[in-house]
Amino acid sequence: MIPFLDLTPGPDAGDVRAAIDRVVARGWFVLGPELERFEHEFASACGAAHAIGVGTGTDALALALRALDIGPGDEVITSPLSAAYSALAIMMAGARPVFADIDPVRLTMDARATAAAVTSRTRALMPVHLYGQAADMSSLMAVARAHGLAVIEDCCQAHMATCDGRPVGSFGELAAYSFYPTKNLAALGDGGAITTSDPALAARARRLRNGGQTDRYHHVEFGVNSRLDEIQAAILSARLTWLPAWTAHRRRLAAAYRDALASAPVIVPAEQDAGHVYHLFPVLSDRRAALQEHLKARGVETLIHYPIPIPRQPAFAGTAPAQCPVADRVCAQVLSLPLHPGLTARTVEEVAAALHAFHAAV
Ligand SMILES: *Cc1c(COP(=O)(O)O)cnc(C)c1O
Repeated sequence: MIPFLDLTPGPDAGDVRAAIDRVVARGWFVLGPELERFEHEFASACGAAHAIGVGTGTDALALALRALDIGPGDEVITSPLSAAYSALAIMMAGARPVFADIDPVRLTMDARATAAAVTSRTRALMPVHLYGQAADMSSLMAVARAHGLAVIEDCCQAHMATCDGRPVGSFGELAAYSFYPTKNLAALGDGGAITTSDPALAARARRLRNGGQTDRYHHVEFGVNSRLDEIQAAILSARLTWLPAWTAHRRRLAAAYRDALASAPVIVPAEQDAGHVYHLFPVLSDRRAALQEHLKARGVETLIHYPIPIPRQPAFAGTAPAQCPVADRVCAQVLSLPLHPGLTARTVEEVAAALHAFHAAV
């Protein structure tokens, strides 16, 4: 069996154990020294002045919007191809998600579709750096500038990715990260962070995550209770030192897939930016269901990211109807192959061989 993922700690297991033991021995579990340290380390790794640890990536997105005073009556343009949490965060902030179709090659928000979706109510763009690859930020920032819009980057799948050589998260006013266990930088549970280089936005986000308090028991605004706890922060500090090596390995595996799949009966989306961090490795097939069954029969587990465009989900029935034919097509074709730091190049060859056999079976 080749599982899609293996979340059991690998060579980092000793560091993770030591981090947990340190926090347990200290007896301080929320808003303590581990979070403070991780926030400094993570901000500097992201090239941002500030990081604010929160409970989830979804909360990071919603609080980033709220820090900009985006809420009821406002529209935020985002991608129809993402985890639904991207758009749910816009609803959590009280604003309305509007969906711009994706670029057929990059699979991220298309700048022309984004410009066409702008209305007098639009306040912000929320591009998603999908599968580990940045959205086309130079074009999207031009749209934002032309219309005076804020930009919040969804970096939940793109820890340490770059776009034209510049760190993701450094283009917009704020960025949001998830440390959900499957992400490139992962906690042993839920976790998230907001990054920004604006001190006022950082202070606001810090207040919003902690009940809207300025000082203890002084709630100056409606905040939430969403904090990255000390155990997760300690684990994330330990794992942050492993992340560059893990990212390099993900890139090696992706290159091995590209070589091995060169003549396979699937479309492998071409890499559009060398700063890709390969959170996932999707391929496209117009016979996806049969291909997934074929791989499963050969012991290769695959997943679909994502089967339904977000605006087609019943939860979004109340939003304006979305025209996103490219996302509709990609959702019907996309299939993610196993790729994680514990995988070997040999396993990649086995997956590729199973995929070539699909061709032979046709
Ligand atoms: C994982 C993810 C989220 C949500 O993060 P959580 O920590 O699970 O709340 C949002 N957007 C994208 C693109 C994601 O991959």
